[in-house]
Amino acid sequence: MRKWGEKPYHSLDYMLRERFGEKVYKVTLNGGMSCPNRDGKIGTRGCIFCSAGGSGDFAADAALSITDQIEGQIAILSQKRPIHKYIAYFQAYTNTYAPVEYLEKIFTEAITHPKVVALSIGTRPDCLSPEIVELLSRLNRQKPVWVELGLQTIHETTAQYIRRGYPLSVFNDAVQRLRKEGIEVIVHTILGLPRESNEDILATMEYLNQMDIQGIKLQLLHVLRGTDLAADYEEGMFQTYERDEYLSLLIECLEHLRPDIVIHRITGDGPKDLLIAPLWASRKREVLNLLHHRMKEQQSFQGRLYKTAPDSNKQ
Ligand code: SF4
Repeated sequence: MRKWGEKPYHSLDYMLRERFGEKVYKVTLNGGMSCPNRDGKIGTRGCIFCSAGGSGDFAADAALSITDQIEGQIAILSQKRPIHKYIAYFQAYTNTYAPVEYLEKIFTEAITHPKVVALSIGTRPDCLSPEIVELLSRLNRQKPVWVELGLQTIHETTAQYIRRGYPLSVFNDAVQRLRKEGIEVIVHTILGLPRESNEDILATMEYLNQMDIQGIKLQLLHVLRGTDLAADYEEGMFQTYERDEYLSLLIECLEHLRPDIVIHRITGDGPKDLLIAPLWASRKREVLNLLHHRMKEQQSFQGRLYKTAPDSNKQ
């Protein structure tokens, strides 16, 4: 066991140290793009949980150039400690929802920054045309390119309720096309979506185990002020997890996940001023400490219950 340093799972921090030889920090960038699930192409109200700031509430000011955004964040982050390497993370909204010429300009500006060691792009799988995948493939030959796909769940009824706006087959296709070009794929999942049981969530983990993905975000469902999800919550349509329930579920998910999948997020980073529930989620450090403590006590670790299927076919 214990192949990942201090933690009982394959953490992002561990992977980055192994791969880049030191701690690597993220700079979150805003390319000024919108989202087809908000601008009317697919929908106007967005995913049911998405706050007005999109999925990039912490991203930088889109009015600044990409270089200025990077330099501004480096200046702040490196005040506390010397940092040599950064990941350029395009976080706000859907970061491939623009003409390929524009994407080439902003992504090239980010990836050629001397302190940037990798590019990470958050997007929807239905916003990856062949031209965009070809661009990402070219960039991936300069430095690693990671694409973060917001899947949230494999279950179609939940996907319709959250207004995700695309079927699972679109996600499968996007993963295959990205992997064909050697681009690393990180999948966002949400734990605690209304009407999903723990078995449903574990089915999502098992499904992803069979796919050729390199990383995962296990995001606890946050109910944020101003979202349609908050309206359903306030009407009593569903409840959020108690902290201990969530920890048990998280441990189960980690135990089922393939050990090589890197865990990029394990609770959530939602904006605290908008958080309605669960309020314990804002004490992230405490939750992580409890998780590590409990896993140690139970001699639990990522992949403990993972079994390679005899006819395993990573897609
Ligand atoms: S795809 Fe992302 S940015 Fe668009 S509505 Fe959904 S969560 Fe928000």
